[in-house]
Amino acid sequence: MKSDLVIVYHRQPYEEVVTDAGVEYREHSSPNGIVPTLKGFLGKAKRGAWVAWKEAEDTSAPGFDPVIEITDSYGTYDVSRLPLTAEQVRSFYHVTSKVAFWPILHGFKERYNYDPVDWPAFRSVNWAFAEAAAEQATDDAVIWIHDYNLWLVPGYLRQLKPNATICFFHHTPFPGPDMFNVLPWRGEIIDSLLACDSVGFHIPRYAQNFAAVVRSLTGAQLVEECATPTTLAAAGGALNDRRMPLTLEYFGNQISIHTRPVGVNFDYIERLSKTPEVRERYAAIRQEIGDCKLILSVSRTDYTKGNIEQLEAFARLLERRPDLHGKVRLMLVSVGANRNMTAYAEIQERIEALTGRINGSYGSLEWQPVALISQAIPLAQLVAYYAAADIASITPLADGLNLVASELCAAQDLTRPGVLILSEFAGCAVLLDGAIPVNPFSNASMDAALDQALTMDMEEASSRMAALRRCAKTWDISAWTQAELAHFKTLHEMRNTTP
Ligand code: UDP
Repeated sequence: MKSDLVIVYHRQPYEEVVTDAGVEYREHSSPNGIVPTLKGFLGKAKRGAWVAWKEAEDTSAPGFDPVIEITDSYGTYDVSRLPLTAEQVRSFYHVTSKVAFWPILHGFKERYNYDPVDWPAFRSVNWAFAEAAAEQATDDAVIWIHDYNLWLVPGYLRQLKPNATICFFHHTPFPGPDMFNVLPWRGEIIDSLLACDSVGFHIPRYAQNFAAVVRSLTGAQLVEECATPTTLAAAGGALNDRRMPLTLEYFGNQISIHTRPVGVNFDYIERLSKTPEVRERYAAIRQEIGDCKLILSVSRTDYTKGNIEQLEAFARLLERRPDLHGKVRLMLVSVGANRNMTAYAEIQERIEALTGRINGSYGSLEWQPVALISQAIPLAQLVAYYAAADIASITPLADGLNLVASELCAAQDLTRPGVLILSEFAGCAVLLDGAIPVNPFSNASMDAALDQALTMDMEEASSRMAALRRCAKTWDISAWTQAELAHFKTLHEMRNTTP
């Protein structure tokens, strides 16, 4: 049976667990996060399908079924598992996507490496994704493709399904022409994206950059511009350009440039923070922390996330303020890198070395200044830390959005409010009003933000956190879902009624 909504996302929409009884496809335990969010859309379609890759060396082996039907709390839907060999995964994902695209998307030209890229291999994986999606889709389906590792899929799909409504959503930043045009495949990528009915971004700045790149490479015309809704622009300051392009016209095709930040499941996290399990853990954390102030930082280990800069700022704090020795602790949750990827392994090693140096220089038997956690913490546990934090320091050098900051706000309790220090270069900085903004490229800015947070009185902290919570709730996941569904409906009607 063909589907009227096909989601193309590289990860499979369940946890695949091999047991004695065979393979189990387990639903994720938490409804928070991008996979559960996208799955929520499948239940809204007459029939939904999901296309992801699955590493498989030998697809002729018995038991490999490329398309399976899944029934879980989101409904019944098909999952097409595109079999890729380990070498294809390495080339398409670990090399082309992470070594060439990722640094450029985040503005790290010096980390970009073109040499190991096998572009024909990237093309052929994207072509296979397009074929798998076309196989699942009705002729007028909405096909929704996610993220830069599938950049060429829209162009291929347009050949295979000329009447489909093709939408693309970027979960990363999108850079301006000086950065993006470093990619030698820029023309091919932009040509593919211009085969879409809609190209989506988290915030107006990325949409602006995309429009600028398109104009730098093609003769596409900008049809309309409109003011960003003031609520989105309100907190953005100078970094948030309030005008964003709405529609581009390219060879008679109208492409909608859509800006809508993915939110978090605010209500779920708030409820979770009040459960006995989380309250108990929260109490244990506070007891362990005692009279110290807890500074919390949570991210993946990645050079874009600013983990090193975070540790350096904390080291400077201890150097500058001996009065804080024994009175402040940094809990750095830096979820371990894929050790097979050199850039991430190198950051991980630097984090471990710096943590050791700080603890060695300042710590004692009673007081360990930095607690480093390198493994992912389950959400319920993380929420207890979010609630217990006196200061949350979220200071990426570049980040498409950053969900951790919004999750933290949802978990905080106003009777004991924490302070959020937030990088200006996290996409969510344009949504979350009430944080202390910080420029993580400046030591002075990082130091001043920590000083301000450490001395903030309860009243100010409470009113800032109340504002932050309002913003995180306004831009939560249900707002995103409703807006995306309405957008698909409009695009689908336009494509199917235009002569
Ligand atoms: N996360 C988690 N356990 C951890 C650290 C992070 O479950 O120990 C989750 C966190 O709740 C959030 C996601 O990982 O939903 C990170 O999303 P974000 O947008 O902040 O960063 P990304 O890693 O996607 O760049």
